[in-house]
Amino acid sequence: MSIVSPHAESVPTEVDPSRRWQTSIRRAIRCPHTLLRMLGLEGEVDLSTQEDFPVFVPREFLQRMRPGDRNDPLLLQVLPKREEDRAKSGFTADPLQEKATDAPGLIRKYRHRALLILKGACAVHCRYCFRREFPYADNQLGGGRWATAVDAVAADPQIEEVILSGGDPLMVADGTLAAVTQAISRVPHVRALRVHTRLPIVIPHRIESATVGWLSGCRLTSTVVIHANHARELDDQVAQAVQDLREGGIHVLNQSVLLKGVNDTTEALSALSWRLLEIGVVPYYLHQLDRVRGAAHFEVPLAAGLALVSQLRDELPGYAVPRYVVEEPGQPAKTVLL
Ligand SMILES: *Cc1c(COP(=O)(O)O)cnc(C)c1O
Ligand code: SF4
Repeated sequence: MSIVSPHAESVPTEVDPSRRWQTSIRRAIRCPHTLLRMLGLEGEVDLSTQEDFPVFVPREFLQRMRPGDRNDPLLLQVLPKREEDRAKSGFTADPLQEKATDAPGLIRKYRHRALLILKGACAVHCRYCFRREFPYADNQLGGGRWATAVDAVAADPQIEEVILSGGDPLMVADGTLAAVTQAISRVPHVRALRVHTRLPIVIPHRIESATVGWLSGCRLTSTVVIHANHARELDDQVAQAVQDLREGGIHVLNQSVLLKGVNDTTEALSALSWRLLEIGVVPYYLHQLDRVRGAAHFEVPLAAGLALVSQLRDELPGYAVPRYVVEEPGQPAKTVLL
């Protein structure tokens, strides 16, 4: 039997202000030198001289990095190394040719699924991101403009799923997200709601009871797709956030990007899958890197990727092997490689 203090229930429940997720965003590291200094690596890495996609790393994520390790797989995802400045042919500003189509903030590449871009900003800047050069300012739906995008969804009976994406949609306050979700759930032909977010990984306490509330409080089937690339990202706080979502009846899936130096071994990918299963997350996609300018040093050749995933098939339960996919402009869905 556990010993519970008789005063436990009278402890005030007000939120510690330093624990609010907005505070974590404000306190995020935005300078590469600070990032290196906090890990005892100052002066040990040649940095990019570009400033158009600055460092952005929440302290909650930094805490999971190993001090003194310049090859730490979490650090490599966020550190703007000098290699970014080297041009490589085939790596371009907009590899997916993704432009808003039906309405501002609505990306419609697939007939039955529509992507709603609520917010251009993210809670972390991943160096390999294909959206690093996306013209978000023109496309995000701040200040109630999301209603026009929901009207476009209502006008097209083919749309069965709405995916809140970004940037990161959980950068938007829960009150707004609840209103958006309610509006979507009033469109009779929409059956499913999906949220693509990296926030439960980088700032796990972003998942508050209000978040679970709007996700589970409407008639839509709700799925949250998180994004982790390495098992060490999945600490106990992340496990708690996932548990909170699952207790609300929300499906939780993970997508990863195959990244040189981060997860391009069977050991790393297998450890990632096992840790995901342990905390209740289904490995969904492993993406071949999109060929965006500045990310060439992360590329794992296709043949090596195929060899890795077929080895995973030998080693893991079938449901633990993510689908290895690549996005090709103009295709009606992602291309499954293996
Ligand atoms: C990946 C993606 C989706 C979702 O595709 P699923 O295969 O259903 O996960 C939808 N719209 C766009 C533009 C996408 O890139
Ligand atoms: S969180 Fe996602 S969209 Fe944002 S920078 Fe990282 S990979 Fe890109």
